[in-house]
Amino acid sequence: MSFTNRRKPSPPREPYRHFARRALRLRCPACGQSSMFPALAKTRSLHDWFTPNEGCPRCGIPFQREPGYYLLATWAINYVAACAIGLASFGIADSLWHPPVGVLLAVTLVPTVLTAVLLARHSKALFLAMDVWLDPPKPPDAASPPKDGPPPVPAPTPPPEVTVSAR
Ligand SMILES: [Zn+2]
Repeated sequence: MSFTNRRKPSPPREPYRHFARRALRLRCPACGQSSMFPALAKTRSLHDWFTPNEGCPRCGIPFQREPGYYLLATWAINYVAACAIGLASFGIADSLWHPPVGVLLAVTLVPTVLTAVLLARHSKALFLAMDVWLDPPKPPDAASPPKDGPPPVPAPTPPPEVTVSAR
């Protein structure tokens, strides 16, 4: 048995709670240093509120990876949390107070919409934290070849063996 082709052991992975803690503070889930979203003072529209910064200036991981990257975060985390809050407020109001339908709708929809807007950043940050935890970013030299130099020369391949059958 040969041990030359064994993979190098990967370093121990940090527990997910460390990544989640950074994400709940809306910090870069990998390093926890830079902010993942624009500051509140610089937020002028809902687009600014919902859109993360380009990436972490310290460790270099991109926050906007591809179009539609945060769809699962929006559906699986944000909408589920907003609907849970809406259903809870509906249940509490209906069982304790029995308001008219209009009031019951308002008591249900206002917390639902507010939760969806307020938790949008956190759901995206938690989703990115899970992605970074499951698939940690590679060091820059291993992730991509340098863009300035010439393209790497592929290793020469041995010529195919030609077998001639004698008839
Ligand atoms: Zn970072």
